[in-house]
Amino acid sequence: MRTSQLYAPTLRETPAEAEVVSHKLMLRAGMIRKAAGGVYTYLPLAWRTLRKIEQIVREEMDAADGQEIAMPILQPADIWQETGRWAVYGEEMFRVKDRHDRDFCLGPTHEEMVTTLVRDEVRSYKQLPLLLYQIQNKYRDEIRPRFGLMRGREFIMKDLYSFDKDEAGMNESYQKMYDAYTRVFTRCGLKFRPVEADNGAIGGAHSHEFTVLAESGESNIVYCPKCDYAASDEKAELKTIEAPAEELRPLEKAATPGAHTIELVADYLRVPVEKTIKAVAYQTEKDEVVLAFVRGDHEVNEVKLQNAVGAIALRMAEDAAIRATGGEPGFMSPIGVKEGTKVVVDATVMAMKNAVAGANEADVHYINVTPARDFAGALVTDIRLVKEGDPCPRCGEPLKMTRGIEAGQVFTLGTKYSEALHATFLDENGKEKPLVMGCYGIGVSRTMAAAIEQGNDKDGIIWPRAIAPFEAVVVPVNAKEPAQLSLAEKVYEEMKAAGIDVLLDDRKERAGVKFKDADLIGYPLRVTIGPKAVESGVIELRVRRTGEKEECRPEDYLARAKALLETL
Ligand SMILES: [Zn+2]
Repeated sequence: MRTSQLYAPTLRETPAEAEVVSHKLMLRAGMIRKAAGGVYTYLPLAWRTLRKIEQIVREEMDAADGQEIAMPILQPADIWQETGRWAVYGEEMFRVKDRHDRDFCLGPTHEEMVTTLVRDEVRSYKQLPLLLYQIQNKYRDEIRPRFGLMRGREFIMKDLYSFDKDEAGMNESYQKMYDAYTRVFTRCGLKFRPVEADNGAIGGAHSHEFTVLAESGESNIVYCPKCDYAASDEKAELKTIEAPAEELRPLEKAATPGAHTIELVADYLRVPVEKTIKAVAYQTEKDEVVLAFVRGDHEVNEVKLQNAVGAIALRMAEDAAIRATGGEPGFMSPIGVKEGTKVVVDATVMAMKNAVAGANEADVHYINVTPARDFAGALVTDIRLVKEGDPCPRCGEPLKMTRGIEAGQVFTLGTKYSEALHATFLDENGKEKPLVMGCYGIGVSRTMAAAIEQGNDKDGIIWPRAIAPFEAVVVPVNAKEPAQLSLAEKVYEEMKAAGIDVLLDDRKERAGVKFKDADLIGYPLRVTIGPKAVESGVIELRVRRTGEKEECRPEDYLARAKALLETL
């Protein structure tokens, strides 16, 4: 390919609409253009990268006994009604009607579709395990699509579904996919971590997220520097912190005028924040009030809380709803709320002694609160959000925190969908059983964006070689100089013949413009053909990632280029 023929309209300025670096750089590098909010056209450079990622994914899915299929994007409502998800999926589902007024959706995911596909064909345990996958567009009607390809309304996903005869088989399929995902992200040249994850709305027992590490990422992950424990902050388990033994004093009220935050209370009563109990009030999707209590210096993990009370969604409670429980906003306590009010207390709070908590009265707190004695009837569990330095749940070492972008996720589903959709088979004893499932997704377009979030500098993108739109670019410094251009053509042909995915920048632009574009688009290797090449045969190789240059002889530049690319 020659740059003069390549449709890659680069921009000098960053478009105002772009907030994150991957979005900015993809627009500037002429890789994508916006069609509508969260909907993009992929131009040739982006499409080349996407196809490379897809190819790696495809090879690893095939190697793990996956079989590729293509299911429809347009899905009838009735299969979603069978599982009940038509009603609960909410506003994020793109819904459409056909001319006969029948309901359809644009697939946000394919559990219903694939399960109804196999329920009609799979009859016997002999047909299992079965692993089916596809790579196609998915749809989600984001309320506020943003961050370019990071949170679009149309995006490319690989999704694989496994069907097994029992739980042991499902766990084997899960492990196979876990290993395949590890190979996919390794082959893509990305720094990543598989982390234990919350299953969210999809249900099931096991889940890992494959997180591409990037400081700009939306996911917080914790990891242990000593053992291999790693988890999303939503999932990270925490051990109860035992409070030191002390003599229990009787519960008492204390006036705390104007102290409506934990810091003010601690200050006013001259106690450390670790001796205070913080309350946060939520309302579920059914408007039920949930009062959550954590230590003053801790935060509530809303995902854990949501799971603990079996809610689908939580929002901050309105003052009127808090008062209806007998609670006082800003001064809440489990002591004195109406019977039947849902109270969830973090396990670490339950171990506290002689602490400070609200008294359900404005400007009043309780002192000498010992929850094990004073908080009767509360649900006690781990609802605390992890923070850096918390002990590793496996080995106790202080945890470290980093950020990343979730690019893949593996789940076990069990029989949730097969039972709802009556997808059964006959086992070895002729007994009818539901298929045992798992599902495994990779955001293909998201992986491209994540790679840019991980690899960039002030000049542009730094691609790993495996997924760069081109591995190398040959740049004649002055393409108007026939000797330089013809030497560049020769080098380009030689590299191409050697199997390198190479581009020739044959534009009659100034060298500076071509160098800037090469850095912006981020080809891992630049081969420069200048006057020195014509005069004395010196060919310059420059590595995008490090900026390092080396001069080669015509007889060894090719071997050197190949060797360098191996490392990029
Ligand atoms: Zn550890």
